[in-house]
Amino acid sequence: VGEAEEMGFKTETRQLLDIVACSLYSDKEVFVRELVSNASDALEKRRHLEVTNPEEYGREEGDEAMNISLTCNQSKSRFVVRDTGIGMTKEAFFVRDTGIGMTKEELGAAADKIIGQFGVGFYSAFMVSKYVKVYSRSAKKGSKGYLWESDGTGTFKISECEGVEKGTKIVLDVKDTELSFCTPQVCERVLKKYSNFVSFDITLNGGKVNTVEALWMKEKNDVSNEEHIDFYKFISGAYDSPLMRLHYSVDAPLTVRALLYIPQSHTEKYGGGRMESGVSLYCRRVLIQSKAKNLLPEWLRFIKGAIDCENIPLNISREHTQDGGMMRRLSTVITKRVIRWLEEEAKKDRQAFERFIREFGPFLKEGCCTDQVHKMDLAKLLRFETTKTDLDYPLVSLDEYRDRMKPNQTHIYYLNAPTKEMALMSPYYEQYKEHGLEVLICTEPIDDFVMQHVDTYSKHKLQNIEMFDAQYDGNVQHTKKIEGEKKEDVVVKKQLTEVQVKALSDFMSKRLVGRVGVVKATERLRDSPAVLADHESAQMRKIYRVTGQ
Ligand code: ADP
Ligand code: MG
Repeated sequence: VGEAEEMGFKTETRQLLDIVACSLYSDKEVFVRELVSNASDALEKRRHLEVTNPEEYGREEGDEAMNISLTCNQSKSRFVVRDTGIGMTKEAFFVRDTGIGMTKEELGAAADKIIGQFGVGFYSAFMVSKYVKVYSRSAKKGSKGYLWESDGTGTFKISECEGVEKGTKIVLDVKDTELSFCTPQVCERVLKKYSNFVSFDITLNGGKVNTVEALWMKEKNDVSNEEHIDFYKFISGAYDSPLMRLHYSVDAPLTVRALLYIPQSHTEKYGGGRMESGVSLYCRRVLIQSKAKNLLPEWLRFIKGAIDCENIPLNISREHTQDGGMMRRLSTVITKRVIRWLEEEAKKDRQAFERFIREFGPFLKEGCCTDQVHKMDLAKLLRFETTKTDLDYPLVSLDEYRDRMKPNQTHIYYLNAPTKEMALMSPYYEQYKEHGLEVLICTEPIDDFVMQHVDTYSKHKLQNIEMFDAQYDGNVQHTKKIEGEKKEDVVVKKQLTEVQVKALSDFMSKRLVGRVGVVKATERLRDSPAVLADHESAQMRKIYRVTGQ
């Protein structure tokens, strides 16, 4: 055994240590995740080299199985993570301390500058430790074992060490204030939270901890329906099976693997309060953030699942997932893919998609009103009841409506009504019916907002036929809009002489003074004697009333 070499950390490393210990992570518990993910990486590397370079890295007699074992002992303030992975050569220990090619000025800047540029995960051990020892022997044949040790302040020591097995053993001498991490209960909870899907066996004081497979990392065709259902139940805490699923992977511009599910139903409609995001973010099977807030837009909060992205650094703290450029890019990639998924589902199985729309349509509508970027994509996905009655499927898209518009028709017509039956009996619909014009029926309170937000679809203006200035194309009537008119106008059916119309209008104006604006003859009615028309739809008036405007 050679002499121990003692040396100081480079100044930059020392500063880095401070940043890691003080501000990089919002939760101290993530040190477990960092050490386990390093162990998992090391095992992965070894597995790879065993196959690609068997001369130097092939298995030898006495080599242990590939696994990660943790032991914790509160009375000894001891926390140990051991893996049978690739291990470290003496040089590798140094790479850690010399590979940090940053200037002091750069390091002086905010912590997020360094996030994602190189690994700092290992240093998180010092958040909870007085002293750290790393025993390691490279899995390369004939390698010697070493011990690296430090109290994480100024210096570290490296010495050759006998009796070290292939792989790495990290021994933490835990600070008195952090001893809870040495209890099996706490340690197991943290392990299950972050490392449940790690693909190597993890044991804690001898008992196996991780039992669930990271299905999203498997090939799409290797996952059975039952596995999906079990996995979906596991990650969402649901009892049903998913309505739809998307298993997808892509390597550019980011390396992403995602397994997303749409449940059968959601809880907001039962007054269950606003749902949280249901998608967790992983980096190579290790949890970065459960129910990640900024991963998908708010209107996709009904989706459950897992997204694994190799480009997102593990050591990104909760605060940093919020504005990180990488998160934004990931969010863009996934959102686009989800929209395409929904388009595909709509084409593939119309009935299933209708079920989806009836349940989750309100979320898409919310997106239409709040997400400028995806507004038009979402409008394309919306489905409406319609006054057309001879359809195989009751709900239609704006595209379908557009494709069967009359030759001269320039507007897309819609009407608010609680049900299709009521819409078909509405006085506003009479003249459209007579001219064989299809009218979309908006049955939800939010629909009017949505239509106003969408405003124009494929160059066709969306027109609420209740409105005072509603007009249809080509022929019949063009009611002039009266500027500054606030009260609803009563439009009287014209089958009377000019004089009679005048008399009736005057009479009605007097009786309804202060309650209506102008009373006049109209040609928009067929069966009803009179109708109210306004610059705002009835739905909007209702909303104004409720909100006191
Ligand atoms: P990162 O994992 O992002 O590279 P870390 O600070 O977590 O950063 O680890 C730094 C480096 O130390 C790793 O890249 C690896 O080379 C080495 N290392 C850490 N833990 C182990 C381990 N258990 N086995 C082998 N090498 C390890
Ligand atoms: Mg790491």
